[in-house]
Amino acid sequence: MHPFPYSFPTMSETERNLTQVRQKISAAAQRCGRAPEEVTLLAVSKTKPASAIAEAIAAGQREFGENYVQEGVEKILHFRDAGVEGLTWHFIGPLQSNKSRLVAEHFDWCHTVDRLRIATRLNEQRPDEMTPLNVLIQVNISDEQSKSGIALSELDTLAEQIAALPRLRLRGLMAIPAPEKEYARQFAVAREMAAAFTALKARYPTVDTLSLGMSDDMEAAIAAGSTMVRIGTAIFGARDYARAAQH
Ligand SMILES: *Cc1c(COP(=O)(O)O)cnc(C)c1O
Repeated sequence: MHPFPYSFPTMSETERNLTQVRQKISAAAQRCGRAPEEVTLLAVSKTKPASAIAEAIAAGQREFGENYVQEGVEKILHFRDAGVEGLTWHFIGPLQSNKSRLVAEHFDWCHTVDRLRIATRLNEQRPDEMTPLNVLIQVNISDEQSKSGIALSELDTLAEQIAALPRLRLRGLMAIPAPEKEYARQFAVAREMAAAFTALKARYPTVDTLSLGMSDDMEAAIAAGSTMVRIGTAIFGARDYARAAQH
């Protein structure tokens, strides 16, 4: 017999997925003695249509991550025009100088600041009537040639420069570690990021965010001290880049 007096025909696939991801985050936090509320779930909606985001909003999700500037701005404007309030938009893709203005004018956060030149542009381009842009410094923790981000040895200098820019608010660090299968390896890398984050936090009162952890290394990242995990596929399903909006 069905345990409920009725079924839930209106519950979307997105909502079911979100519930599962939230449960995984809670379990991972509780296993290491952290409160689940310490970890924010960032729903990565790149290539996904506004209708999928609307399902996530209906399921209580408010924080969204986008990788492509143009596509992200279209979605931000879509929901603004629809009168949906209370959403927070995070830019998490590689940022080219010529796209910085759109990020400064539309997003709430940028996770991928990794050079003074981009920080300076974002600071100059952030409209006065908006609150300062929340920024994370991207660290290249796995030292891969192909990925963006600074070395940990460059962190103090860049943090000091960013903290001096009035239209930016330094909130913390972000990293995309190289994929590792083993938990112990994932945890070791995450611990390095967490140590850098703790040191930064001690110097800057605005710092409170460590954006670290994706589907495959979420548990290790949370155990090490991540405060924000970025999850796409497990919420919205596999991406079809061929059908995605132009970027
Ligand atoms: C795409 C992306 C994610 C989410 O990846 P999934 O594998 O879909 O969960 C997280 N972080 C960044 C920076 C991404 O580009």
